[in-house]
Amino acid sequence: MARPYNFSAGPAMLPESVLNQAREEMLSWHGSGMCVAEMSHRGKEYMSIAAEAEADLRALLAIPENYKVLFLQGGASSQFAMVPMNLLRGAQDADYIKTGSWSKKAIQEAKRYCTVAVTEGGHEGKFTSVPSQLDLLLGETAAYVHYTPNETIEGVEFPYVPDTGEVPLVADMSSTILSRPIDVSRFGLIYAGAQKNVGPAGLTIVIIREDLIGQPLEGTPTMFDYKIHADNDSMYNTPPTYAWYLAGLVFKWLRELGGLEQMAVINQRKAQLLYDAIDASGFYTNPVRPDCRSWMNVPFTLPNPELDAPFLAEAKTHGLLTLKGHRSVGGMRASIYNAMPEAGVQALVDFMAEFERKHG
Ligand SMILES: *Cc1c(COP(=O)(O)O)cnc(C)c1O
Repeated sequence: MARPYNFSAGPAMLPESVLNQAREEMLSWHGSGMCVAEMSHRGKEYMSIAAEAEADLRALLAIPENYKVLFLQGGASSQFAMVPMNLLRGAQDADYIKTGSWSKKAIQEAKRYCTVAVTEGGHEGKFTSVPSQLDLLLGETAAYVHYTPNETIEGVEFPYVPDTGEVPLVADMSSTILSRPIDVSRFGLIYAGAQKNVGPAGLTIVIIREDLIGQPLEGTPTMFDYKIHADNDSMYNTPPTYAWYLAGLVFKWLRELGGLEQMAVINQRKAQLLYDAIDASGFYTNPVRPDCRSWMNVPFTLPNPELDAPFLAEAKTHGLLTLKGHRSVGGMRASIYNAMPEAGVQALVDFMAEFERKHG
């Protein structure tokens, strides 16, 4: 049976071949007689799964030797606190770039720990673009600069990596990690909740330059100290073992596909197809400045909100699921992460044209 296309912003689609492999390995992983979820995280089998996943992630992103890769829990939302707790290192302030709902939340949390200087993106109070490099307010005493390369809710993406000189750059890559190659050496710290573009919820990936580890704020809980996790290969306590394993299968899938260069070509093609369809119609609208449009999350509105319910109902009968936009933005949102096949975007575009003919 063909599965429908799921445009959920997260937890999101996983590659079908990964789900099939997980099913094949469900009752007995590689002849072990155990499901991966039943294995001790300190056993030989699981240690090999964990190490291979890290090696594949390092290969995909060409992560330099002087960076640690951590497999944590707590979601990106915990990183909103962990970042200031660990990266302030005696400083009193940090710079944040506000471009949408998630960076706003990161700022709120950081304010509990330090003075936050904010550069605002957007236009007339709406998050529809990002500030240019020249517009960034970067303080001389800031411990780090935090930004959100892809705002999942607004569908706004940075077309460039901010240049912050010697000040460490911190990126919440929850909804864009692994969508294309990046130069990890430009960043002090990258974090991402897994459930958008990596694997199941429950796993949070942190890539951190080693010199930034080891000076947490006084009173930082043990579990919020990067050093504890780095020194224990993310096994200070029980890690999210099954999510880590599934993420590892996704990393293998990406490598077999041709790595992130190839993934980027496909992702750009998918996004182009959808934006072209929106722009060519007099019916659908995307409010984001063209150079800041996300490859991953594409919000769009219909000419009249009363058409939203019929659009969603008819889409569902075409096997197109979870297109309802975030309540703060309204309209629709199609999340087209790595695992969304090109055929899924084509099916959406075809349906949108048909719906417009009927209701336009
Ligand atoms: C989903 C998301 C978050 C929140 O992630 P949790 O894992 O639910 O804490 C934070 N930032 C961005 C950019 C996201 O897309």
